[in-house]
Amino acid sequence: MRNQLAGIVADKGIREKNVLGAIRTIPRHLFMDSSFEDHAYQDKAFPIAANQTISQPYTVAFQTELLELKPGDKVLEIGTGSGYQTAVLLHLKVKVYTIERQLELYKKTKLFFDRMGYRPKKYVFGDGYKGLPEEAPFDGIIVTAGAPDIPKALLSQLAIGGRLIIPVGEEEQVMTRINRTSNKEFKREEHGTFRFVPLLENKN
Ligand code: SAH
Repeated sequence: MRNQLAGIVADKGIREKNVLGAIRTIPRHLFMDSSFEDHAYQDKAFPIAANQTISQPYTVAFQTELLELKPGDKVLEIGTGSGYQTAVLLHLKVKVYTIERQLELYKKTKLFFDRMGYRPKKYVFGDGYKGLPEEAPFDGIIVTAGAPDIPKALLSQLAIGGRLIIPVGEEEQVMTRINRTSNKEFKREEHGTFRFVPLLENKN
């Protein structure tokens, strides 16, 4: 079933071998509630705890491909959720720092990572709007929730040459890639429309 899912994702345009390899390897059914297990290898988003969703595999693959990672890169993920995207990043042998703001989900996924032996460098409970300044700069930053605007903190935590992949918008989101080309210069590209749960800011 994983091979089949990788095939579907490849047919939709994903080319990067390691990304398809991740989909072929990672047991997505274990990241989902048992009531949805039978659907785990469909190319669809599904509900997880705390009213959140596990992203559609194609979307995970697409965002990961846009990051253009190489082994050893430092990557910040905002919105750990089920941890599936985290596992895809770990498969690419990058150093993963990941942040989740829903406590219930944070705890659930923490136990799951321990049980599965998935080892991000840091797994933080907090507000991803602020990024993780103490670990910056990052070669890649990936936001897995829809952001009304681009958080300034995330731009400032990109390494020169680094990439931020962020879905921007309210009702629907435009997948946006920001390349930091120098200390003060950022190049912006748009890569189609998607739908995500909202990126929420802690207002305190
Ligand atoms: N990559 C995850 C996507 C989960 S949905 C997966 O495939 O399972 C997006 C996640 O972003 C949710 O878990 C939500 O709680 C989280 N989120 C929303 N706003 C956030 C913020 N400001 N900081 C960190 N996480 C946030």
